[in-house]
Amino acid sequence: MEAAWAARHAATLPMLEQRRRWLVALRKAQGERCAYCGCTFEAGTDRRATIDHVVALARGGPDTRENCVAACQRCNTLKRDMDAEVFRRWRPWLAGETREPPPRLPP
Ligand SMILES: [Zn+2]
Repeated sequence: MEAAWAARHAATLPMLEQRRRWLVALRKAQGERCAYCGCTFEAGTDRRATIDHVVALARGGPDTRENCVAACQRCNTLKRDMDAEVFRRWRPWLAGETREPPPRLPP
């Protein structure tokens, strides 16, 4: 069963293993805390650690470790394809922590 799964995913296993290594290194560098909300990662909850692209792939960000941070699942879901700088401003409102949306940036 496990061997069959590994055989089916042979092409993607090296990438998955690389991502796992990235996540381990990012978590350690960030002191086991989410890059956006600062929560402590907790496996098996919506505070589990995920890899997030600072400049979203959908917006042309590179798929490199330098463009990645460790973010909790909750932040990752809220951020979607926003760039990190924009998400940092909007996160408290998106997460329902404040009623006030962030002020508009000067043009
Ligand atoms: Zn978070």
